[in-house]
Amino acid sequence: MAEYKPDMLSLITKKKLGGELSKEEIEAFVKGVTEKTVPDYQTAAMLMAIRFVGMKDSETTCLTLAMRDSGDAADMSSIPGIKVDKHSTGGVGDTVTLVLAPLAAACGVPIPKLSGRGLGHTGGTIDKLESIPGMRVEMDEEEFIAQVKEIGIAVMGQTKNLAPADKILYSLRDVTSTVDSIPLVASSIMSKKLAGGADGILLDVKSGSGAVMNSLEDSILLAETMVNIGKLAGKKVSALVTDMNQPLGTHVGNALEVKEAIDILSGRTGGDLLTLSLALGGHMLALAEKADSPEEGERLMENALRSGAGLEKLRQMIEAQGGNPAVCDDTSLLPQAPVIKEIKAGCSAYVGKMNTTALGLAAQNLGAGRKELGDELDYSVGFVMHARIGDRLEENTPFFTIHARCEEEALRAEEEIRAAVELSEAPVERPQLIYRVIKNK
Ligand code: URA
Ligand code: CA
Repeated sequence: MAEYKPDMLSLITKKKLGGELSKEEIEAFVKGVTEKTVPDYQTAAMLMAIRFVGMKDSETTCLTLAMRDSGDAADMSSIPGIKVDKHSTGGVGDTVTLVLAPLAAACGVPIPKLSGRGLGHTGGTIDKLESIPGMRVEMDEEEFIAQVKEIGIAVMGQTKNLAPADKILYSLRDVTSTVDSIPLVASSIMSKKLAGGADGILLDVKSGSGAVMNSLEDSILLAETMVNIGKLAGKKVSALVTDMNQPLGTHVGNALEVKEAIDILSGRTGGDLLTLSLALGGHMLALAEKADSPEEGERLMENALRSGAGLEKLRQMIEAQGGNPAVCDDTSLLPQAPVIKEIKAGCSAYVGKMNTTALGLAAQNLGAGRKELGDELDYSVGFVMHARIGDRLEENTPFFTIHARCEEEALRAEEEIRAAVELSEAPVERPQLIYRVIKNK
């Protein structure tokens, strides 16, 4: 058979001049990308044209469905009940999955969760889980589904070839400054979620200095676009637009984030990470028809927290996946960094703006994230923030604590973190945590 090759030059020209691509044209582009018959330079030119011209909702939906169909589809239909997949557009200190998933499972929502590794300045659930001694995050589908049927929850890395077109497009976007495009982000995320086989999708769309979309306006538009795609694809989708102008949790780094999740599930600590996990969980329970409303769902989540049922679910999951469940009682069994350095405030001031992306990169530089594919992580490193935007810091009180492999790396992180956080003499308003709720039904 002849090699399939779309007429990319005319497609790029059409989009560049502001035109609308037809379903057939979009399918031809995605097929050429997936089969690698379209050269990277033409794909990159098309991505830049889309970045500047944009796409109509109908085009974005066609692009999403073509990407969804570029590879395998996961089949979760043998698991009884309504499966709802939670997805975050990516943030720093975003440990929601490790808090929400066990609590929702304890409330009876089946959780077959496929998660990712860290990307750029953001962390990934699979890397975080791997910091637990012994924990396996690779399973075959049969074992994965059996575990969900038995204990209600399993979290693993993606094994099937879900939306391979996205892998190719994303890696080119990463190096051509075309990540921040609403149709490209929406199709990237929704193609993977639709191939993932859940019945409903709950989106946490981040907004602010650590998010893919910095402005609230663009974040809301992205959320609306994704909710609309879900509707056209016949799935129930809800989206919350939430703040990423500072790390969500206080802990950043793989084992440190697992520790924070365990502290929260044990009732020892709270804060924005807990507040958002409960709110998202409320929506998940409503989508899964385990609650009549998000408000009722949130109350059920709170009950599962107070009773300890959420922590118990996490313990069961860790045990089922070969990890040491004793970390749930003693977080000092998690990897510990050799150098722990407490940084104090140099003056009395209010905590102002943060460059959250820079904070994520500081953790990456400490060894918590990969700079190149295949880099090995140090699970123990990262930092803990002791103050949030709007808090008053007194001179010589703890500001943040760095967990590092050596003194030099701790010093570099101190400089990077200080540079990423503005201090203000005047009081600073605290950011709102949840900006908007968008539903499609
Ligand atoms: N996350 C994704 O999976 N894709 C994007 O384009 C942005 C964030
Ligand atoms: Ca993430």
